[in-house]
Amino acid sequence: MPRTLQVSLPCGLSRTQGVVVRDAVIKKMKGRVQKDISELSAAKNPNVSEIYNALLQACVESVGEKPGTSLLFEQLTFGDRDWLLFEAVKLMKGETPRYTVKCDRHDVEIDVEGFDLSDLPVTGIADEAALWLNVASGEALTVAEWEVQGGVPEKTVRVFCLENADLGTRALFTYPKGMHQKRLNRITEDNVKVIWTLMSSTCMHWKDEERDVRAPNGGFKPDFWGDVDLDALQWAQAAFADALPGMDTDITVECPEGHEFNVKVSATDFLFSAQTQTS
Ligand SMILES: [Zn+2]
Repeated sequence: MPRTLQVSLPCGLSRTQGVVVRDAVIKKMKGRVQKDISELSAAKNPNVSEIYNALLQACVESVGEKPGTSLLFEQLTFGDRDWLLFEAVKLMKGETPRYTVKCDRHDVEIDVEGFDLSDLPVTGIADEAALWLNVASGEALTVAEWEVQGGVPEKTVRVFCLENADLGTRALFTYPKGMHQKRLNRITEDNVKVIWTLMSSTCMHWKDEERDVRAPNGGFKPDFWGDVDLDALQWAQAAFADALPGMDTDITVECPEGHEFNVKVSATDFLFSAQTQTS
């Protein structure tokens, strides 16, 4: 098996002038990394982004021309980061690694036979739909449209637009990057509404003129969600989650006792020997 592998990111790294870098090289993880990661995970308050960065550092050689550093990984989307780790799993353990889950209800261990990492669906980004937001003017256009106007301005971010004709709502979002994870670390997993508020405060650019998401100082309006009706909020939340690039990691497991349950597969389960999850 090769030591490194060239891959193409589902979302890619945004550069100025509408350039997206997709090429990445992943490498085989060294044995000692496992020790480092388990030490980080065993800390009293494990720092998720630190663990994530250490994992990526161990698996990713480069993205485009840039070597794999934590600064670079912070610029990658959540989806690309996950996806890279799964590619690293394939490089180390093959496409069909052994996978065991535990059914808590019946206290049995289930060998998920025939599990193939390549079967996990990956959502990419349609290039023709990629929009760039001029941070200064708030105008969002495709690269081709910018070029008609005389070139892409320097200060642009890559955004995607979600529209719901029934609600008469349109919203623009930036893809969440690794650096957002630092903010999300403080949040517990079951507090979805807080996560969403934090996420939207960094990723959302509402385009309806009457509902400008930005305060005059450029920051997110803290009372923004108070102005938006519940239907629009729920729609935006679900549509945002659906539109994110990356790997769909939910799999269905059949328990020998005759029921099925869903498990979220994680790259770290495969990278490290303890592969047990619970239902
Ligand atoms: Zn069971």
